[in-house]
Amino acid sequence: MADEGLDALEAAADCLARARYAIALTGAGLSVESGIPPFRGPGGLWTKHGEPPMNGFERFLADPAKAWADRLNPQGPMRELWVALSSAEPNPGHRALVRLEELGVLQSVITQNVDDLHRRAGASRLLEIHGNATLIRCLGCIARFPRDAIDFAVLPPRCPQCDGLLKSDTVSFGEPIPPDVLERCFEEAARADCMIVAGTSATVYPAAQFPFSVAERGGELIEVNPYPSDLTSLCRFALRGPAGEVLPRLAELVAARLG
Ligand SMILES: [Zn+2]
Repeated sequence: MADEGLDALEAAADCLARARYAIALTGAGLSVESGIPPFRGPGGLWTKHGEPPMNGFERFLADPAKAWADRLNPQGPMRELWVALSSAEPNPGHRALVRLEELGVLQSVITQNVDDLHRRAGASRLLEIHGNATLIRCLGCIARFPRDAIDFAVLPPRCPQCDGLLKSDTVSFGEPIPPDVLERCFEEAARADCMIVAGTSATVYPAAQFPFSVAERGGELIEVNPYPSDLTSLCRFALRGPAGEVLPRLAELVAARLG
């Protein structure tokens, strides 16, 4: 049974302060607090507009020029998402994780979010398991490029390094997680003795596997979420509230213990 409440916040801070190798796993809840709509649930893009096709990657490969034309001129839910992404700013939850990193406590952040907000907040050891919406990735050599490094005069654009097919770095439905990121996520989860799970119920594979892997080896999980999730029963501590409120308090308590 997970500990909750004020004592749990103190105990979770103890746990982080004594951890040998703490990491974090974050998801949509953190982005929602920065004004980015979720995909599912109340106010979700797909709740409003209907579920997208589940074979996005296959469709991209079938006609990459058309997929790129759609992406460069997004309509409907994709336009709504782009507008939200371009105006979103990191929130206190993102910044608290950076503070934990600067304190030497947090070794890496695995995120399911594609919005670049962890990096913009200053995260330096970031693993974006579903990619980054501001980047473009080569399906040939896995190199990633900022958008302005790519020539879109002819669609689909080609890799400046290997002439491979370029795609948004965001992982599509049916697309394998890029192996470089996935391997590092498994390595981090295998090393961690403490994991903050913030703003995610981590029900989607492969992210779902990381908290299980940590708990299985006796590591402690700290859940930061306004509501109980499928993971709660696995967690040593359940800190209830928005990440933007809970994480700064947690980071403050950890800093006090290390000071
Ligand atoms: Zn390439």
